[in-house]
Amino acid sequence: MAGGTTVVSCGNGVPCLEQELADLGITLGDEFAEAQKEMNIAPIAEGLLSEGSQRIIWASKELGYNMERMPKFIDPVRCQKCGQCSLGCANNAKWTALDYLEEAVKNGAHVVYNTTVGRVLVENGKAKGIRGVGPQGQLEILADVVVLAAGGLGTPVILQQSGIKEAGRGLFIDLLVNTYGIIEGLNLLHEPAMALVDHEFHKSQGFILSPYMNSPRAVRFMEKGAQGMALPTHSLVGIMTKIADEPAGRVYPDGTISKPVTERDWERLRAGSSIAKEILTKMGADSKSIIVSNPQGAHPGGTAAIGSVVDRDLQTKVENLFVCDASVLPTAPGMPPILTIVALAKRLRKTLAP
Ligand SMILES: Cc1cc2nc3c(=O)[nH]c(=O)nc-3n(C[C@H](O)[C@H](O)[C@H](O)COP(=O)(O)OP(=O)(O)OC[C@H]3O[C@@H](n4cnc5c(N)ncnc54)[C@H](O)[C@@H]3O)c2cc1C
Repeated sequence: MAGGTTVVSCGNGVPCLEQELADLGITLGDEFAEAQKEMNIAPIAEGLLSEGSQRIIWASKELGYNMERMPKFIDPVRCQKCGQCSLGCANNAKWTALDYLEEAVKNGAHVVYNTTVGRVLVENGKAKGIRGVGPQGQLEILADVVVLAAGGLGTPVILQQSGIKEAGRGLFIDLLVNTYGIIEGLNLLHEPAMALVDHEFHKSQGFILSPYMNSPRAVRFMEKGAQGMALPTHSLVGIMTKIADEPAGRVYPDGTISKPVTERDWERLRAGSSIAKEILTKMGADSKSIIVSNPQGAHPGGTAAIGSVVDRDLQTKVENLFVCDASVLPTAPGMPPILTIVALAKRLRKTLAP
């Protein structure tokens, strides 16, 4: 999909992995500032918060926790509080990578849609282009420089098919669970998803907390079977625990995936959800009504990590073959990664066209 996962994002714009990248010799101060300005990132407007989130702020404060407004790339004037950010914004209130694509097209870029890249063409250790399949069948596109950006699950497949066998290891997905409580008359239906964030435990315990509820019952069925489906959508508040998980997963050359949840992952998920339960109980949820979803994740990355598959310029061992997406992240952020990926792309632009 053009625009990739940014199209379905919650609009959270938070710098992450600054220290880890600095330790690898990559400082992104200017790039972060430039991206934040272009994406109009600011804490979510108070007027966009639902009553459910306002009660979360109150309960967290009472308990001594620090739930803050999430920095967002959502235009508060355009946002209609439909709560459907993850289906793509019908009101065009959210920044997506399509904005950059449009700019690229205005500057002469040619976009080839509906085409799957299979492998990179390599000659004498240098990238020469790509081979893929489009609506007209097989095609080759020749180029002096190739930048792969097929995401944490797509890029390692292309790399392995292109002879870079080291790719695919070290998969993380920023595992998360949603903790739901039934509270009469309160819900999070009419606000951008993940309107708040508490990151006070991120450094010490590897997790953040953020309001989140899946409103379609079918999705809650996937999260927790019949129990999840039976929850009353209009009297339901959820708090997500998102962790920096261990990079114990793998993407194989045929695109299949393994992703174990390790004991340390479970500890982090449990630690976060026990605080979520405390907050929900303070808000008035009956502790017996509280359920925790099965683990899931939405930030696959680490499968072409800086330092193992790409160097600090994001170049692979194949000359002129670069990677710029979540797969280069050196470790699980446990935080929204879009802003950092955009900043890395801006840095790569300087490498390619100094
Ligand atoms: C529901 C949801 C909400 C999220 N909300 C946020 C948020 O609010 N803030 C945040 O920072 N992060 C958020 N994330 C995570 C974030 O969107 C991703 O981590 C990030 O966009 C990943 O960027 P990427 O460039 O690595 O890959 P992607 O965005 O996945 O882009 C990869 C692109 O490559 C294409 N592709 C894959 N394989 C091939 C191939 N073989 N040939 C051609 N094209 C291919 C895909 O179709 C896609 O367009 C969210 C994720 C989800 C799923």
